[in-house]
Amino acid sequence: MFAPLPDDLLKSLLQPNETKIVLLVLDGLGGLPLGPAGPTELEYAYTPNMDALAADGVLGLHIPIAPGIAPGSGPAHLALFGYDPLKYRIGRGALAAAGVGLDLQPGDVVARGNFATLDPQGNIIDRRAGRIPTEEAAPLVERLARIRLPGVEVTVRPVKEYRFVLRLRGQGLSHRLKDTDPQRVGVPPFPVEPAEDTPEARRTADLLNQWVQEARRVLANHPMANGVLLRGFATDPQLPRFGERYGLRPAAVAEYPMYRGVARLVGMDVLDLEGTTPEALFRTVQKHWASYDFFFVHYKPTDSRGEDGDFFGKARAIEAVDRALPLLKDLRPDVLVITGDHSTPAKWRSHSWHPVPLLLWAPASCRTDDQYRFGENACLHGGLGIFPAVHLMPLMLAHAGRLKKFGA
Ligand code: ZN
Repeated sequence: MFAPLPDDLLKSLLQPNETKIVLLVLDGLGGLPLGPAGPTELEYAYTPNMDALAADGVLGLHIPIAPGIAPGSGPAHLALFGYDPLKYRIGRGALAAAGVGLDLQPGDVVARGNFATLDPQGNIIDRRAGRIPTEEAAPLVERLARIRLPGVEVTVRPVKEYRFVLRLRGQGLSHRLKDTDPQRVGVPPFPVEPAEDTPEARRTADLLNQWVQEARRVLANHPMANGVLLRGFATDPQLPRFGERYGLRPAAVAEYPMYRGVARLVGMDVLDLEGTTPEALFRTVQKHWASYDFFFVHYKPTDSRGEDGDFFGKARAIEAVDRALPLLKDLRPDVLVITGDHSTPAKWRSHSWHPVPLLLWAPASCRTDDQYRFGENACLHGGLGIFPAVHLMPLMLAHAGRLKKFGA
């Protein structure tokens, strides 16, 4: 295994080109067979279009973080984008904020919030307030947004259903704070407490505790959402800009806030969608084809069906992407990669560490292997071998004719 390339080395090798790259991420693509010697979800799925690309392209497996480490989608995407996920850490709050288009500046403090149901004694009955729908949560978020704190600017934005994002902006704040969500019911929420002994952390905790108290007051008459939980305190991760790092004009085509968020945090343009089916995602790429030369396309249902434990549903989600794939191929990208950010085997209903299948199709530059079906086992025997995800960007750039040789 190779260490990630130093940022300055990669930058010194960049050369301009007109080529276009598409990175299609089927979230949680990797899977496991239901029984010994059976197919995985990807192997079970009928994917004639991906198989044709596999025959003309080259296969491999990537390891998102390190062997044996099951990643969250945030660090797994950073690795796909070529950022060492152990060096660049994004707090959950920062991802959530970016996902709803709330900008972050150095020194800001952001947190993910949940509406929760509390009993008259203040103990938690439901950590998600009965999963109240987005429409019902919106006016409650407006009430929260009116709460003022001394000396700082407070912003609250709705996310989906019972979730919101809270941002504090001002001097002398710290995000080094502990979650207030005890992760169980029958007990009261924790107060906000500093995770480090600094005046900034103590002051921020005090301010947030005032905010939580006021939130309970303005929510008191709601039958379900009468309390709040805060977690994932974070600040601006100050990630290097993807466009400058790789000499590309990057765009993201993603439905879910978290993926829109991580794309925004690395400075990609996040496009308005034509819809959320695979066809609609690819139509969005088509519409903006001339304006960008790198497209990150994110498809979530593969991961969702995996988390549901729905092996056949996950296979169908893969097939839906396959049916729409000619739309992408007809755009004639110079490099098209189809992979996942991590594995989500339906059998496990969770993310796993298993290496992730990867298909690289670059008609002008890839060294074809003898694999002709896209699946985990074929990928194991593919020409790219097994490699750390953080090397995917240099590989795509090289196949796109965008890297010079190293040394004389
Ligand atoms: Zn994921």
